[in-house]
Amino acid sequence: MAATPICAHLDQIEVTALPETIEGCEECLKIGSGWVHLRMCMTCGKIGCCDSSPNRHATAHADESGHPIIRSAEPGEDWSWCYIEEVAFAAPRRAV
Ligand SMILES: [Zn+2]
Ligand SMILES: [Zn+2]
Ligand SMILES: [Zn+2]
Repeated sequence: MAATPICAHLDQIEVTALPETIEGCEECLKIGSGWVHLRMCMTCGKIGCCDSSPNRHATAHADESGHPIIRSAEPGEDWSWCYIEEVAFAAPRRAV
């Protein structure tokens, strides 16, 4: 029997690679706000800011879109986070 995956939503991953250039949190740039760390939605590729940022756009995007998984968009970081299980895991390198 296959081991139970840590996250049951891997089939919703469409985007695994970060864009070549990231200007910043898309929503913060629109409103002229700042951010602490950047996250990328692995379903649609939207760049948002982390929960340490004042506007928490990555979490807001997950709430309103239902896209469950983000990954870090910070240099050298490749962890992912599923909002549904609230679990961190290594980001898959390819779409599944
Ligand atoms: Zn999950
Ligand atoms: Zn933001
Ligand atoms: Zn999304």
